[in-house]
Amino acid sequence: MSSFNTVKGTHDILPENSDKWQNLEKIIHHCVSLFGYKEIRTPIIEKTDLFSRGIGENTDVISKEMYSWVDKDETALSLRPEMTASIVRSYIQHSLGYQSSLQRLYYIGPCFRRERPQKGRQRQFHQFGVEAIGSNHPEQDAEVVSLGWEILQRAGLKNLELKLSSVGSGECRNKYIDALISYLKPHKSKLSEISKQRLINNPLRILDTKIKAEIEIINSGPTIDQFYTNDDRKHFNDVQSYLKSMNIPFILDPLLVRGLDYYTHTTFEITSDDIGAQNALLGGGRYNKLIQSLGGKDTPAIGFAAGMERILLAIPDSKKIKKINNIIHIVCIEPNALGSAQILSKELRTLDLNIVLETMRRSMKAQMREANKCNADYVIIIGEEEHNQKTAQVKRLNDGTQKTIAQNKIFNHFKSLTY
Ligand code: AMP
Repeated sequence: MSSFNTVKGTHDILPENSDKWQNLEKIIHHCVSLFGYKEIRTPIIEKTDLFSRGIGENTDVISKEMYSWVDKDETALSLRPEMTASIVRSYIQHSLGYQSSLQRLYYIGPCFRRERPQKGRQRQFHQFGVEAIGSNHPEQDAEVVSLGWEILQRAGLKNLELKLSSVGSGECRNKYIDALISYLKPHKSKLSEISKQRLINNPLRILDTKIKAEIEIINSGPTIDQFYTNDDRKHFNDVQSYLKSMNIPFILDPLLVRGLDYYTHTTFEITSDDIGAQNALLGGGRYNKLIQSLGGKDTPAIGFAAGMERILLAIPDSKKIKKINNIIHIVCIEPNALGSAQILSKELRTLDLNIVLETMRRSMKAQMREANKCNADYVIIIGEEEHNQKTAQVKRLNDGTQKTIAQNKIFNHFKSLTY
């Protein structure tokens, strides 16, 4: 074995799995385009400050998990741990808001967090997500939630749960935070060290705790819905009724609160029962204050991010990937026929057929074995006799039927099968 292996928490995607990845990517690209979203691609490295301001210094992602370094010119750089901050940076840098008052954007690509690896948690993982920048209306929230739901449905996922909440406006959050602090202070001695810290730095993050005793304390405490203004309540009710009218099932979870000041109104998460402890597939929310805080104009926005590895873990094995085109192996056992085999391959590929041509000059038996292994639909066999007679044997592998066809008729033969 080579002394070089993948770095801890990172994985190769091997050919045996790349079909699944490509299939999921196709579903994503197709589905977002049905909703009118356009792809945006940003660099994997950005200035560290962008993430500390865009995600928040007190989050685990920033304080513990970022891959950061000081570059030779003294600039502090990081590998992106998520993509929203980069998209907002790009939106501001290229004045995308001036080009169109509503930008519907989506992205797909790798992210990096130095977390403890486990099933469904890597150090390099892949996210896709959308950001709708420009509208503050509840129908935009409903669109983004329904798009996330639709992609997971199209990927064939079962046993999903959509949790929905609202953190209301800034006014409502502040009142809730005060109430939460007053409620938790008398319980302080029962809190973990990390929650004690959060009580000072970022009390809303305590709601993310996985410790049973803390969950019980929180469950008896104040909930954010008690602090909604009339506008907050109306926005949230409208989002819910739009989702109901689209038959998208959800449950309300008032503890689903994002711990940063930028988040306002709707937050949501989709989890799966099928993948173990790391069960969050997709999470998102409205972040009306982020663009301004990163130096742009005050612009409302909402988005979500989803983890592709976790989605692939949750896709049932039984969901077979549809083969789009027939696969044909050209089994050429006559060296003088290799030139005609090349020409034939080139012609057949114009019919969008997947043509695999032998380049190892192996025996007939070995080439047939290879064709079977690759799940080929047809083989086209050219041996010495066929070469001399300018013919080929065309064999359909699923039932073994075989016929001799003149080489100059093969293109039309497959054309008539294709259309
Ligand atoms: P977040 O940006 O933390 O809200 O994460 C959005 C989604 O990305 C999650 O719901 C997960 O599906 C996925 N995700 C986040 N961190 C990881 C990780 N370390 N490994 C794999 N997937 C992740």
